[in-house]
Amino acid sequence: MTLKTQPLMLSLCLLALLTATNGIADESSITKPRVISAEAWGSDPLPMPVSRLHEPRFITLHHAGVEWKAGDDPLVKARNLQSWGKKSVEEGGKDWPDLPYHFLIAPDGRILEGRPTKYEPETNTTYDVNGHIGVLLWGNFEIQRVSPAQVESAVRLVAWLAEKYEVDEKQIRGHQDVGTDTDCPGKDFSRYLKDGRFQTWVNRARAGEPLAIKLDEALEEGPTEIVPQ
Ligand SMILES: [Zn+2]
Repeated sequence: MTLKTQPLMLSLCLLALLTATNGIADESSITKPRVISAEAWGSDPLPMPVSRLHEPRFITLHHAGVEWKAGDDPLVKARNLQSWGKKSVEEGGKDWPDLPYHFLIAPDGRILEGRPTKYEPETNTTYDVNGHIGVLLWGNFEIQRVSPAQVESAVRLVAWLAEKYEVDEKQIRGHQDVGTDTDCPGKDFSRYLKDGRFQTWVNRARAGEPLAIKLDEALEEGPTEIVPQ
């Protein structure tokens, strides 16, 4: 090529390089599921101390342990949970600067953003929360059944988180499997985490395969009713 065309060729190469880099910068083939931002539901957290920064290494699933009633609004529930947690212990709250969980999933499958993932979560139990990403499914799965939409959203969200933070499938667990005395996330949901089916669905999502989620019949001793949407 002549000297005259060189700058043009160089710019074209740079353009191609930038385009390629942008493609890679997308990080993974997994699409982030739609998440309602904390701003959109009216989150009003307190400043978080630097001492609470952490590196996510585990993904831990919870249920709310509170019955979800027909007509409940997940945006209102998130605001209420946050304002209750922010109250001092003397006022009946928890002294939590923000929601205790990083993501909250409604029975209709909507996902809400909670506490920023760069900060460790909170717990009412005793495990070391450092490194845990907390994903909450609304409902009480000791007395209600988890909804298929909720499970699918949880699988897609956890798959995306696992890719983003390079979390091994062995570190995707229910709250009661991280070594504490709790029935969380409830018997109707925790069975899929205990026998590895949930992790299999997550692996399929990570591989871009059809999820083929199939939930079991109700447990013999119940619960029998799916959480209302
Ligand atoms: Zn829990």
